[in-house]
Amino acid sequence: MTVPIVDITHREDFSAAHRLHCDSLSAEENLALYGPCNTLHGHNYGVEVTLRGPVDPVTGMVINLVDLMRVMREEIFDACDHKFLNEDVPWLVGLVPTAEVLAIAFWDRVAARRSDLGDSEMTRVRVIESRNNFVDYHGPS
Ligand SMILES: [Zn+2]
Repeated sequence: MTVPIVDITHREDFSAAHRLHCDSLSAEENLALYGPCNTLHGHNYGVEVTLRGPVDPVTGMVINLVDLMRVMREEIFDACDHKFLNEDVPWLVGLVPTAEVLAIAFWDRVAARRSDLGDSEMTRVRVIESRNNFVDYHGPS
């Protein structure tokens, strides 16, 4: 009998400020590249982490979503909520905090907690920056 494989996702929301600015470009180049996002502003972010794994025939779960929620709150929400991402989050300092860069950083934070997430495989981190813009990262290739 084949074991059913299911993707499960937990979402956390946080609010944070950031500024898109690349130190290796001039002020004029930064403004031309990032437009209004070169100025300090904020977003109400959504972050989704998806895990894939077999459904345990006894518990009916891939993993307990409470475990994923705890990891995401500790690694992402507690570090980023109501912070200035460029300066207040040590593991983002020196990076340009675009949604793409955040997705990669969040993947790494959650991946470092693999032992808390059972035998599941992380398949996607989605960072939702606004109603119209979001990015998906599927891990290092
Ligand atoms: Zn922004």
